[in-house]
Amino acid sequence: MISQRKQFVENILNSEGLDALLVFGLPNIRYLCGFTGTDGVLYVGKNESVFLTDPRYVEQAEKQVNSGRVICYKNKVAAVGDLLKDLSTNRVGFDAQVVNVALYQQLQQLSDTLDWQPITEPLSPLRGIKSADEITLLKKSADLNSKAFNAVFPTISKGMSERDISLALEFELKRLGGEENAFDFIVASGPRGALPHGVASHKVLEDGELVTIDFGTRVGGYHSDETVTFAIGAVDGNLRQIFDIVLEAHDSAIKAVRPGLCIADLDAVARDYITAQGFGEYFSHGLGHGVGLEIHEYPGVSSRSDVILAQGMVITIEPGIYLPTVGGVRIEDTVVVTADGCEVLTSIPKQFRQL
Ligand code: ZN
Ligand code: ZN
Repeated sequence: MISQRKQFVENILNSEGLDALLVFGLPNIRYLCGFTGTDGVLYVGKNESVFLTDPRYVEQAEKQVNSGRVICYKNKVAAVGDLLKDLSTNRVGFDAQVVNVALYQQLQQLSDTLDWQPITEPLSPLRGIKSADEITLLKKSADLNSKAFNAVFPTISKGMSERDISLALEFELKRLGGEENAFDFIVASGPRGALPHGVASHKVLEDGELVTIDFGTRVGGYHSDETVTFAIGAVDGNLRQIFDIVLEAHDSAIKAVRPGLCIADLDAVARDYITAQGFGEYFSHGLGHGVGLEIHEYPGVSSRSDVILAQGMVITIEPGIYLPTVGGVRIEDTVVVTADGCEVLTSIPKQFRQL
């Protein structure tokens, strides 16, 4: 286990008075011990780590797991019970945002002497600061977005469906080496642009519409996330106006990113500008989110977050304005916080473009 990551868990063991932490969430398992399969549980104690998985993954786990031994189970909960007994573990923390009620009840039935402690807040910043290796993968993932978009963009024209664009992007991303779509791509044209999460439909693009495309892929487990909005033919002045407002809000938020800034204050940079232009009520979501092994992860970027930005955090900046029945604009880049500002990882041009 990478020493900083181990130290992070040890600090939780100490501060929460735990004998061990059981990690059930796959992104955290991958982050802590290197396992990339889809089932298992990681035990991190004061003196040793043990990874438990089912027979499908034993060989893979023995190659990948970078700390401690690997145990193969037929029944996960029973194997956890045996391990806790073997290692005389009593007070056990678990990642409470991942363990569902059914699993929790099974764990509780293992033994009367076990003291189960749900851990939420102390665990959430675990993957918040990205290492140089992680940033390299995030950049590779972001680079695929640009390459795929640059290939598909010239083929877009009126009469093409949102779904055709989504499929073309998916094909290009996978052809270039993307592992999987980061999420269901959003391609929202015309009035559908007012839906912040307008997943690509069979609607065809028409003249005078704005088209918002929000997409991303995954490289080495790390996600890209980027949104572009462009016009099909000439658009009405009010659509052009909201585009310019969103772009200015986006640009000024990116300029404001620096270590030491409270995230709520970053959100306010974009939100206050959009509000001052009269469209505050139409910017209906937070400014962004952390990105890494999960598409949405710590830190959330919204007016409710009191997290302080730190070097190595990777977040999105994605203000939007959504006018019901009219249309919408969102512009999104993914940035890494640097020593004195930020570096933008995504690189598709964001200025107004008309096809
Ligand atoms: Zn996005
Ligand atoms: Zn996003």
